[in-house]
Amino acid sequence: MGKVVDRSPELVERILKHYEMMDKGEWIRPNFSNDMQILYMRDRQTFSFLLFPELLEIGYQVGRLIGEKFIAPYLTGKTLPEIMESNLHFAGDHNYAHQEIVVAREDYAVYRNYECADCYGMPNIGMKICCYEAGTAAGCFEIPLGKHVVVTETKCCANGDDYCEFEVKVVE
Ligand SMILES: [Zn+2]
Repeated sequence: MGKVVDRSPELVERILKHYEMMDKGEWIRPNFSNDMQILYMRDRQTFSFLLFPELLEIGYQVGRLIGEKFIAPYLTGKTLPEIMESNLHFAGDHNYAHQEIVVAREDYAVYRNYECADCYGMPNIGMKICCYEAGTAAGCFEIPLGKHVVVTETKCCANGDDYCEFEVKVVE
């Protein structure tokens, strides 16, 4: 999938520029701030997953690409615990969630997202829907590690839990 995106380098560059603008507090659009209510995103993705559960895997792969292209360049550290520590502030900085690392070893980790933008406050719909988050984490961890990483959401607010929890496994 990375190769498909590499055919549109201008898209990757433009989105990186937008992230830079956001970090500087500049507006991407001339007449609207970068703040937008989260229900646009939530409605679309939640009903997409409810109607077509097979999109969860696609969302995970899309997330991997986002993590690889837009998060990994900002991370530091060589080991999984170091890399996760350097990533910890992004979720909060971008109003996505409050993130907490529960376990961090060289080849295995667990982290939680509280008040997740994707699912907090949802009723139990029997689905763990934060596939973009799981994929993004996998993508941004595997680039600096140089190893394949699989991230699985094991708890989710849309599945009756109070927070989202993710298991990170480094695959040799
Ligand atoms: Zn979730």
